[in-house]
Amino acid sequence: MAGTLYVVATPIGNLEDVTLRALAVLRSVDRILCEDTRHTSLLLRHYEIRKPLVSYHEHNERRRAEEALAWLEAGEELALVSDAGTPTLCDPGYRLVSLAAERGLRVVPVPGPMAAVAALSASGLPTDSFTFAGFPPRRAGPRQRWLERLAAEPRTVVLYEAPERVARTLAEMCEVFGGERRAAVARELTKAFEEFRRGRLDELARSLAEETARGEYVLLVEGAGRRQAAGEGTE
Ligand code: SAM
Repeated sequence: MAGTLYVVATPIGNLEDVTLRALAVLRSVDRILCEDTRHTSLLLRHYEIRKPLVSYHEHNERRRAEEALAWLEAGEELALVSDAGTPTLCDPGYRLVSLAAERGLRVVPVPGPMAAVAALSASGLPTDSFTFAGFPPRRAGPRQRWLERLAAEPRTVVLYEAPERVARTLAEMCEVFGGERRAAVARELTKAFEEFRRGRLDELARSLAEETARGEYVLLVEGAGRRQAAGEGTE
């Protein structure tokens, strides 16, 4: 009988943010596919889990996916994890999950942290519907078009950005979205220097322009036409 592929969410900082089920699955599988074996070893060591680790990242994804499918078809149980949060969400794994599903193999999510959802839940911005935009494109043209499309989005927009580009992205969002929109910047979630800044987009852009950004960031902006009293639209 074919094995199951478990897609297991792991902490985004605080090692205690892992579910009992995630630990049970990691203890029960034959192998764990992970982005960086050293990084995942820290989590496994913390919970005294010993398992063969197999690297699975964007550079070996094609070859590794085929190997993993063969293991599953031979009856092995596999867990897929990433360095942080939910695999396949701005992280490797989509190819494997998609091929496994196509071949009729069982794919089971083991839910847990995701930085975008954690940030949204405490942002104070409308949560009734939102759009997760991932990382902005790096090149100027595609980036501008991407921002223009998002500017018309009526749902709360949640995106990821690298620290060295956070100030620039906020400044560009300000230009394209208009500075008066409510926004939030969530930094280092679940870690020692966790921080939320909430305010108008132009205020946040100004404050980030004045400092050196460090750590991991989630940016959030209320949707177009959503300026309203706090609490509305969140039930
Ligand atoms: N799969 C992950 C998830 O479920 O959130 C996302 C992985 S993506 C490669 C990494 C990006 O997620 C970072 O650049 C940052 O934007 C965001 N991120 C991850 N951990 C975070 C944290 N603890 N605090 C704030 N943002 C975080």
